[in-house]
Amino acid sequence: MSDIQSIHEFDLNMICEYFSALTRQGPGSPEITNRAFDFIDGINSDSHVADIGCGTGGQTMVLAQRVSGKITGIDLFPRFIDLFNANARQHGLNDRVTGCVGSMDNLPFDPGKIDLIWSEGAIYNIGFERGLREWRQYIKIGGYIAVSEVSWFTDKRPDEIEDFWMEAYPEINTIPVKLAQVQTAGYMPVACFALPESCWLDHFYSPQAEAQKIFLAKHPKDASVKGFIENQRHEQRLYEKYKKFYGYVFYIGKKI
Ligand code: SAH
Repeated sequence: MSDIQSIHEFDLNMICEYFSALTRQGPGSPEITNRAFDFIDGINSDSHVADIGCGTGGQTMVLAQRVSGKITGIDLFPRFIDLFNANARQHGLNDRVTGCVGSMDNLPFDPGKIDLIWSEGAIYNIGFERGLREWRQYIKIGGYIAVSEVSWFTDKRPDEIEDFWMEAYPEINTIPVKLAQVQTAGYMPVACFALPESCWLDHFYSPQAEAQKIFLAKHPKDASVKGFIENQRHEQRLYEKYKKFYGYVFYIGKKI
């Protein structure tokens, strides 16, 4: 038996402190945010965009270079939202980019008012199908949803990685299944593409190596911090070993 714990067993404040030190809290990159945005039409200075599970806003500030309208970031953690708003101020964007504490299962928007719902590496918290279905009500007819979601690249996988994901996120599935779910939830599938490995290795895991050293030095006697870091390292080793079998995929749909 492995002594690796599920991430669900760690204290949320500790996880939050750890990820606060990073520009991104999930796999992604400015290039990929831009590539996904290239599939979206009709955004102008009157548009209202929502970034759900925005974290500290790494991808939101990139999005804001393309969106001249208003962007509202929503995240459950006040600490992330404070950093998000500081980030927006630093970029001189705080007149139109605002972070709000809130939950993705109870969004603070009026029905049919949002032009684009964006969500990178976060919809798994509500579940892909449920998120697509429930968030649809907030989007205007002709508006878009763009989300990144972990997906299988093949029909069959080695047991070790299959078991890991069945425990972590049983809703993981293949790209054709996820794409069909986009359509069933009431969107025209516009595009989907897999994030390159650099989004995990260079933009997600590599910055964590330094953050882990600092975090361990700050909490030298804390066994749960040690366990959490070991967990992150285990996840990275699994990714390096099995990256041809899974990864993040951007799904873009249009509400018609
Ligand atoms: N989009 C960011 C963060 C991804 S990590 C990025 O790509 O870097 C997932 C984010 O979802 C975290 O910031 C976490 O705090 C947030 N989250 C988790 N559950 C949530 C919920 N119920 N409502 C809103 N945000 C939530």
